[in-house]
Amino acid sequence: MRVSVVVPVLNEERNIPLLYEQVRQELEDAGHDFELIFVDDGSTDGSAEAVANLNRSDPRVKLLSFSRNFGHQVALTAGMDHSTGDAVIVMDADLQHPPEMIRELLDRWKQGFEVVHTVRDTTEDAGWFKRTTGTVFYRLFRALSQIDLPANAADFRLLDRSVVRALGEIRERTRFLRGLTAWAGFRSTSIPYRAPARREGQSKFTPRRMARLAVDGLVSFSAIPLHVAIYAGLALAGLGFLYSLYALYVHFFTGTTLPGWTSIIMLVAIVGGIQLILMGIIGVYLGKIYEETKQRPLYLVRRSIGVAPAAAKDR
Ligand code: UDP
Ligand code: MG
Repeated sequence: MRVSVVVPVLNEERNIPLLYEQVRQELEDAGHDFELIFVDDGSTDGSAEAVANLNRSDPRVKLLSFSRNFGHQVALTAGMDHSTGDAVIVMDADLQHPPEMIRELLDRWKQGFEVVHTVRDTTEDAGWFKRTTGTVFYRLFRALSQIDLPANAADFRLLDRSVVRALGEIRERTRFLRGLTAWAGFRSTSIPYRAPARREGQSKFTPRRMARLAVDGLVSFSAIPLHVAIYAGLALAGLGFLYSLYALYVHFFTGTTLPGWTSIIMLVAIVGGIQLILMGIIGVYLGKIYEETKQRPLYLVRRSIGVAPAAAKDR
């Protein structure tokens, strides 16, 4: 049984040799033929060269180099598109996804599971902010999408070839692979792990990128935020109707026709604010529809070493 390991890489030149060494060890000990595909997501350091160097001594190491940065989720997709193994393991380059877990992933696969998720118990270098926002996100995602995404699922998992093929059919631009994998179904299981601190370099996920990934995840798996407009609209209309009854009562029975300046200002302000929020939500979805209709290729490849062109479908 052949195993493909897919690793997205953005400026990880110092982690690449370390990861290679450990992955090779694990897979050789387990007695598997393997390929290790590094997807260089527009690195500006020597990452591509580091991979090319490894390839010279070990052709099982392969490189797919993007023309620019297309993002972590797209890099994972490209690696899966070009993989040829019976099982595909995706993992980060920074050794936060411990290679010694590979053995366990493979064991579960051999037991018949087609998807083996890993779930972070703890991340040693994650601060309070990253942990809390993460927890909130997973709660929200589960509530809004009705998809049973394991809380704190990582982009470290094993997929059977059949699942890779199924995911390859999905060419949505807004890709949240954890959600898509859960959505796809198949026989899945998850195993817990403890994420150590990053080995070298710094995290590429700023709070802003995290927020973007979270919004992408929610918007591509739930239309419920759009429905908020209906409920808010109904509630407001109801309140407005009651307020109108009151206004009529004042007008006809008390005889004091007040200028009503205060109430008008308040209504304008509150309703205006709510309308803007809802317009914003609609705008987000509209933007996504626009992105999807363009049908652009998901990524562009500058060069590749060792990856089978037969498996290549560069979109
Ligand atoms: N990465 C990537 N493209 C990006 C950002 C990150 O390929 O635009 C890679 C990065 O090199 C690493 C993995 O994705 O292998 C996870 O990124 P990182 O470790 O920075 O994220 P964190 O673990 O801090 O959430
Ligand atoms: Mg990391």
